Amino acid sequence: MRYLSTRGGLAPAEFTDILLGGLAPDGGLVVPERYPRIDAAELSAWRSLSYPALAFEVLSRYATDIPAADLRALVERTYTAEVFGSPEITPARRLAPELHLLGLSNGPTLAFKDVAMQLLGGLFEYTLAREGRQLNILGATSGDTGSAAEHAMRGRRGIRVFMLSPHGRMSPFQRAQMFSLQDPNIFNIAVDGVFDDCQDMVKAVSADLAFKARYAIGTVNSINWARVVAQVVYYFRGYFAVAEEVGQPVSFCVPSGNFGNVLAGHIARMMGLPIRRLVVATNENDVLDEFFRTGVYRARSTAETRQTSSPSMDISKASNFERFVFDLLGRDGPRVAALWRELEATGGFSLAEDPAFARIAEFGFASGRSRHADRLATIAQVHREHGVVVDPHTADGLFVAQQWREPGVPMVCLETALPVKFAETIREAIGIEPQRPAAFQGIEDLPQRATRMPVDTDGLKRFIASHCD
Ligand SMILES: *Cc1c(COP(=O)(O)O)cnc(C)c1O
Repeated sequence: MRYLSTRGGLAPAEFTDILLGGLAPDGGLVVPERYPRIDAAELSAWRSLSYPALAFEVLSRYATDIPAADLRALVERTYTAEVFGSPEITPARRLAPELHLLGLSNGPTLAFKDVAMQLLGGLFEYTLAREGRQLNILGATSGDTGSAAEHAMRGRRGIRVFMLSPHGRMSPFQRAQMFSLQDPNIFNIAVDGVFDDCQDMVKAVSADLAFKARYAIGTVNSINWARVVAQVVYYFRGYFAVAEEVGQPVSFCVPSGNFGNVLAGHIARMMGLPIRRLVVATNENDVLDEFFRTGVYRARSTAETRQTSSPSMDISKASNFERFVFDLLGRDGPRVAALWRELEATGGFSLAEDPAFARIAEFGFASGRSRHADRLATIAQVHREHGVVVDPHTADGLFVAQQWREPGVPMVCLETALPVKFAETIREAIGIEPQRPAAFQGIEDLPQRATRMPVDTDGLKRFIASHCD
């Protein structure tokens, strides 16, 4: 399998060539040259596979330059009951007839990002060792992504993680998840500023190309192709868990921010999985809902981006969305490049009048939006009717899913985090304290390790340099 850029300017490259990179050289995103088709006979055979065996089948069609035995060993080491709480890895739970929750949040940091990030840790370590290289991952986090990255990279050979977070602004639980890691390759940096200051420092360091090259600075953001493809696996799992027979249509509803998770559903569908609808659920930050309803994509300014009680979906633009638009427009790279130039220049673009938008239903997409009050009401309703507590992001998904259910078509809602991570909203909705898995009891009392730093790019560079030589 070879990889191209959504903007047409990348010479075809192999999986391990694009694994460690971010954007393609032309500013686009990396996509496979085609989607491998899985026929009905293969689907039936995949149905009885274990999670790691299924992950191997999916990944081996994309990571064609990793020897099969190595890839198989890697997924078997990654997807274990020890790390993900059960041999199912992503267990499905029936809430009502034809309404299911797919549990993606049983990994080390209790959010779905672990599913992909844990594999990425293994893939990075493997590839770096093979090429005799090192990587310094530099990132900024307000909570979830940073801790998933640290837990995936801790103790890995050839990798260091420098993670910036705003000092005093994470919840005690989130802080403990990151700062209690004692692995010598993990560096937590508590910046005296807000999240945007952290992100600006990361951007400034990455913009110094000489420094970036000398210290092999990389990232693990949500546009990483391997992260997306790792997420494709659980759509197959979710499908097999609820479909009565292979071939029956099943819909999925996905709490969405940067469009990584639901993009993986689109890819599963393009591969031939009988997905009927892919429902994109947004919160008050409804860039994506607006696009799927109207064909207008309008990025929001920082001032327009609201802080909500489903914070991991608070986005101003959706970084993975370009990959879907590439497919929607018949994989026309120059056209995508022009649209993204327009987006840069004017803050948006419209496909409302484009014949491609009229065909959007063929891609299965539907959407909806959920607000704070809807989230609270859904948490309360699901608790009352099914005895299950869901987190605010999952509640956004369940709320929107209600509007798109159809008789005879099971709806699978993706559970993207456990409620314990968002205890305040759970208390507000139902007045109880969410349960904490046993391994997380008292983590706030563990010794913590972090370096405090002012908003100072040169200071950050000195810190990185002093830990690399
Ligand atoms: C990251 C995240 C999301 C959004 O996922 P995308 O892939 O960015 O669309 C939703 N819910 C939770 C809990 C998350 O951490």
